[in-house]
Amino acid sequence: MRKLVYFFGGGKAEGSSQLRTLLGGKGAELAEMTNLGIRVPPGFTITTEAWSEYVKLGRRDPRGLWEEVREHLGRLEALLERRLGDAERPLLVSVRSGARVSMPGMMETVLNLGLNDKAVEGLAQRTGNERFAWDCYRRFLTMFGDVVLGIERRRFEELLQVAKTRTGARTDADLAVPALRGLVSGYKGLYEEAGEPFPQDPMVQLTLAVHAVFDSWFSKKAEDYRRIHAVPNDWGTAVTIQAMVFGNLGETSGTGVAFTRDPSSGERRFFGEFLPNAQGEDVVAGTRTPQPITALRDRMPGVYQELEATYQGLERHYRDMLDIEFTVQEGTLYLLQNRSGKRTAAAAVRIAVDMVSEGLIDRDLALLRVDPDQLDRLLHPIFDQAAKARAIAEGRLIAKGLPAAPGASVGRVVFSADDAEEWAERGEKVILIRTETSPEDVAGMYAAQGILTSRGGLTSHAAVVGRGMGKTCVVGCGDITVDEDALEFRRRDVVVRQGDVLSLDGETGEVVLGAVPTKPSEVVQVLLEKSLTAEASPLFQYFGAIMQWADEARRLGVRANADTPTDAATALAFGAEGIGLCRTEHMFFKPEARIPIVREMILARDREARLRALEKLLPMQREDFIGIFRAMHGRPVTIRLLDPPLHEFLPKEREIGKELAALRAKTRKDRQRIAELEMILEKVRSLQEANPMLGHRGCRLGITYPEIYEMQVRAIFEAAALLVREGVAVEPEVMIPLTGTIGEMRLTREMAVRTAEAVLAEAGVRVAYTVGTMIEVPRAALVADQIARDAEFFSFGTNDLTQLTYGYSRDDVGKFLPLYLERELLPRDPFRVLDQEGVGELIRTGIERGRQTRSDLKVGICGEHGGEPSSVEFCHRVGMTYVSCSPFQIPTARLAAAQARIKERGSDG
Ligand code: PEP
Ligand code: MG
Repeated sequence: MRKLVYFFGGGKAEGSSQLRTLLGGKGAELAEMTNLGIRVPPGFTITTEAWSEYVKLGRRDPRGLWEEVREHLGRLEALLERRLGDAERPLLVSVRSGARVSMPGMMETVLNLGLNDKAVEGLAQRTGNERFAWDCYRRFLTMFGDVVLGIERRRFEELLQVAKTRTGARTDADLAVPALRGLVSGYKGLYEEAGEPFPQDPMVQLTLAVHAVFDSWFSKKAEDYRRIHAVPNDWGTAVTIQAMVFGNLGETSGTGVAFTRDPSSGERRFFGEFLPNAQGEDVVAGTRTPQPITALRDRMPGVYQELEATYQGLERHYRDMLDIEFTVQEGTLYLLQNRSGKRTAAAAVRIAVDMVSEGLIDRDLALLRVDPDQLDRLLHPIFDQAAKARAIAEGRLIAKGLPAAPGASVGRVVFSADDAEEWAERGEKVILIRTETSPEDVAGMYAAQGILTSRGGLTSHAAVVGRGMGKTCVVGCGDITVDEDALEFRRRDVVVRQGDVLSLDGETGEVVLGAVPTKPSEVVQVLLEKSLTAEASPLFQYFGAIMQWADEARRLGVRANADTPTDAATALAFGAEGIGLCRTEHMFFKPEARIPIVREMILARDREARLRALEKLLPMQREDFIGIFRAMHGRPVTIRLLDPPLHEFLPKEREIGKELAALRAKTRKDRQRIAELEMILEKVRSLQEANPMLGHRGCRLGITYPEIYEMQVRAIFEAAALLVREGVAVEPEVMIPLTGTIGEMRLTREMAVRTAEAVLAEAGVRVAYTVGTMIEVPRAALVADQIARDAEFFSFGTNDLTQLTYGYSRDDVGKFLPLYLERELLPRDPFRVLDQEGVGELIRTGIERGRQTRSDLKVGICGEHGGEPSSVEFCHRVGMTYVSCSPFQIPTARLAAAQARIKERGSDG
């Protein structure tokens, strides 16, 4: 029979960390810790399957759920010798959400459940602390009202404020029992007003709270988070019901959160914060600025020692850096949560490498521990220290907060998540300023470059979530006063208003007015600029170790999309093994002096005139290829012949029209220019197409104007021959774009080979080369067996292949894609993340059929997907030879390729 509830307590648990999918991260880890003999308040977890059934039944409880809950509640009550709602020995529980991946702060929690008018007296008696009991009761009423019944939290806060003012209390903690009793009755009034009297029956409380937690999966903030982090909507949440422990029972109590290593740098030191006499929510919500963990060592050395031994044991057990939450209740330590700690990219590489040296993990696991997308952040710029020093000398350093997540961000100041999103959509870079962030702000945080809060510690919401997103984040900046309504913040007499530019240093916590210039990251300084040696950069060494291990582990090759010698050199420095796509049209645009010649070629009246223009372009292209071949030192370079429709090289009709109108309006007319423009206009009109993406482009262009491709092939082989004569190795691969039929392939191949052979014969050298094609048209994938007769390699152009498979124009998809994503008509943007089931099926078919004809067919991908980790994994699985991506994505692709191989080995047994 299906089991919907799992118990943990009394040193034993029914679940374990193996059951994450069923029990959620929180439930599974509580079970695991219980089994490890760590002191965890006992409780039980309702499974995600119960959630699924609840949702399927239209938000109704699955059959048998509450019988099971009652049974486990009975076990819990028996274990603790307390009862929910009891007047003498009341049991209080927390009701907490928990998805299988951590979604910090995204879903709901209710604490102190079980309190009612009777139980509050019992709690007062048992703890001998009446104030504490009534404080818990009013907190419970607030949380229950807000989370479960949707009564605005603001209404509770207002009454609290009134009570404080009336009694002259400075902080919440100054409120005495009579005031708290008064508040409780005032709060109940709010329930009455809302038409929902406060339920005294604890089972009713529990039922409503469980439903509220179930439903919180569908809150906007949780949905935003899932969209950003690609968490499937059908995973759902488990619900853990756990006995409460109290960190607010006086000076020998408290609560804290800690990381077993530094989450910013990865350094091996216990890193955490502690708040004496407080409940957990105070720390995570960032409402009080906590003290460093050493405060616990000074106050309660015994507890600190136990905590140290516990975290060390946990780290050894999980072989990972962990994020733990704990509470000390009257000198006794309880662990409340433990999960893999979110970390910056720098910390991720350092921890992975250190743990290998410490013998905790092997290299494969180390490679799996680094998120390939994160590596990209190690390549991002940092502040130019000299420029920052100058800014500081000029008095522009206006504040300093806690450095919560590194980075160097410059942007315009905004004060709400909505504005952050709106401005970012307009292309502005923004810094989001808040007193503190809450889960509602997640989408805005994502849109911002950096986040600055005036309150909260290094484990506050802003810090944890910002760090996870890779945003620059400075928190707890008490120097500033934020006025979110007036859209400004102040530091003494300096006022910073919405739209002003600010620079944020996530390493130091410095907040600088105006823009501070940035400079390349350490990795870039070592690899590209050579302005720093590898020895001088520990970060680079960690990065280098991961990259080296990744290269040893992967099978898939990694190449770059590069069109210039500079790009090629960058790609090589980042570890590219060749060029998978050199788009020759980019050479037609740059330098700009070439554009008139390209236009001359397009506007040519006949073949002779076109040949004359091409003759001028030839030496320029040859120079480009020489530069690229030279930069690549004999590695393969795939050069794609001209692809875009010719009208892209001509001025827009509107611009010509404008110039013509201006010229015609003059009294002294420049007749020659007018005639010239009229001709261009006529040509532009003649080149106009209803669907240029489906029009006269790719190999269709090379077939109608063979002289263009001939010139390009000539340039390639003249360059190759010249270098070979100099003793420089070259490996050209000529690539035909957009083929869809065997005829197109055969014709263009023959043309390419004829020209290449002629050039090589003239030069009297031999150069080994291949001719292949892009697979971008679905038909090409389907007739790949035929195409492979004439193509020695395939490169999947998944930008066009995605466009043509879905029938979504690459240029117009923005009009409906956002809505499609919102409505979940598409799981993600298929132009970014490869659609494995549709486009992927064509790739699979293409490879299989191509290799039926040519078993050693070399196969790559050169669309935007070549640097996206899940797509890279797919490319590995379908047996591609290499992926090709932009130079800065190469480290990501190398690691993703290694992970794909490691996972495959793991699944092979
Ligand atoms: C592609 O279509 O995937 C491709 C790489 O070519 P382009 O983006 O230049 O059309
Ligand atoms: Mg293409």
